[in-house]
Amino acid sequence: MQDVLVVGAGPAGLSLVAALVEAGLSVQGLALADPAHPWPNTYGIWVDELEDVGLEPFLEHRWKDCVVHVNSGPVPLHREYGLLDKDRLQTHWLSQAEQQRVCWHRGKAVQIEHWPTHTQVTTEAGEVLTARLVVDATGHQAALVRRPKSAELSFQAAYGIVGQFSLPPTDPQQMVLMDFRDDHLTPAQSQDPPTFLYAMDLGDGVYFVEETSLAHHPAIAMETLSQRLHQRLNYRGIEVKDVHHVERCLFPMNQPLPDFTQRVVGFGGAASMVHPASGYMVGALLRRGPTLAKAIATALSSSSTTSDQVANQAWQALWPADRVRKHYLYLFGLENLMAFDAPQLHQFFDAFFNLPTDDWAGFLADNLSLPEVVQAMVGLFGRAPNPVRWGLMRSVFSHGHLLGRTLMS
Ligand SMILES: Cc1cc2nc3c(=O)[nH]c(=O)nc-3n(C[C@H](O)[C@H](O)[C@H](O)COP(=O)(O)OP(=O)(O)OC[C@H]3O[C@@H](n4cnc5c(N)ncnc54)[C@H](O)[C@@H]3O)c2cc1C
Repeated sequence: MQDVLVVGAGPAGLSLVAALVEAGLSVQGLALADPAHPWPNTYGIWVDELEDVGLEPFLEHRWKDCVVHVNSGPVPLHREYGLLDKDRLQTHWLSQAEQQRVCWHRGKAVQIEHWPTHTQVTTEAGEVLTARLVVDATGHQAALVRRPKSAELSFQAAYGIVGQFSLPPTDPQQMVLMDFRDDHLTPAQSQDPPTFLYAMDLGDGVYFVEETSLAHHPAIAMETLSQRLHQRLNYRGIEVKDVHHVERCLFPMNQPLPDFTQRVVGFGGAASMVHPASGYMVGALLRRGPTLAKAIATALSSSSTTSDQVANQAWQALWPADRVRKHYLYLFGLENLMAFDAPQLHQFFDAFFNLPTDDWAGFLADNLSLPEVVQAMVGLFGRAPNPVRWGLMRSVFSHGHLLGRTLMS
């Protein structure tokens, strides 16, 4: 019997398969389609996050000139950003898997059954796959992992175009993380939930421009985002000349944490690993995958460890208590961001990206300790203008339970 069955072949599934074989485990995979089928999304990441795990050769583009625009002016970021060469990274992970003879099955996982020594997954076509441990990496709408239902899911939504334009939408060789300027909106539109432009110069006269809603419940409609993108571009006298690709992005930012007592372990979107205050996840996959794989290898190496204990140790490695506490702090941050009006958001991001780079970078990458995150937030409070401070204090009353979970989880 194989040690681990990984269900799903997105970035979470493939990165974990690579980490598991690296940890010496025998692995099989289950995917809806050919695991080499190209991933649909564009993945951006800070270059230092890839350098930390030795994967910076898998960048297709990198930008030194990175900026946030708020109404009071540009805020330079002093941190390098990149776009993953996702096809090459996918091929790299698949070839690592192939070298260790990982067998890929095709099918849709529909049922899971636990036995004292192993777990069985049944596909829609009736194929039964067995392993000592099953990892669900089927994305934000997890197929097997149990999570409490939330009526208040907030979604990041974005509508983007890769193409050519009559005028450059960014400065040459620039990446715009967020352009919150809203001078193109009518007074009535300015009262609607704020959206920003994410944009980058891809070279050879090609740009990626994406109108993004950081988080909102319910999700902002694609038509609204598309209309806003064109309105923004038109206002700056920019026409779309040629569309190479359209990206429609929609995923939940605040999925409840999974039940950590269950026998199936999650990874990626299925394990609620999206950073609730930013929507980024790929860096977290790269950092946390090897730790999870080692914990699984250690747990499986002991013959006296029961299957329940193996799953429990895996969940603990993925979501240790300290990380759970920080997660509630980020959820508190998300609630603040969604409660701010447009002027508060501008002031907030101006203050946030003027924090020492290590502080805002560590907050976004989730690689600060809990006391360091708290210190960065206190620094932000000290630096922020009064309207932002009032907003934060109001949130302590309305969402204090999240701070309570930070202290008590
Ligand atoms: C358009 C878009 C852009 C994004 N951009 C970024 C970004 O720039 N940076 C960043 O860090 N994050 C980004 N994210 C957020 C997050 O990183 C992605 O959603 C990421 O793809 C999640 O990875 P995953 O492997 O968990 O899930 P997915 O990528 O959704 O992969 C899940 C896999 O499981 C398979 N599957 C599903 N159900 C079953 C089943 N029942 N049986 C078998 N297989 C199944 C699917 O076919 C798929 O292959 C973006 C998200 C979207 C939607």
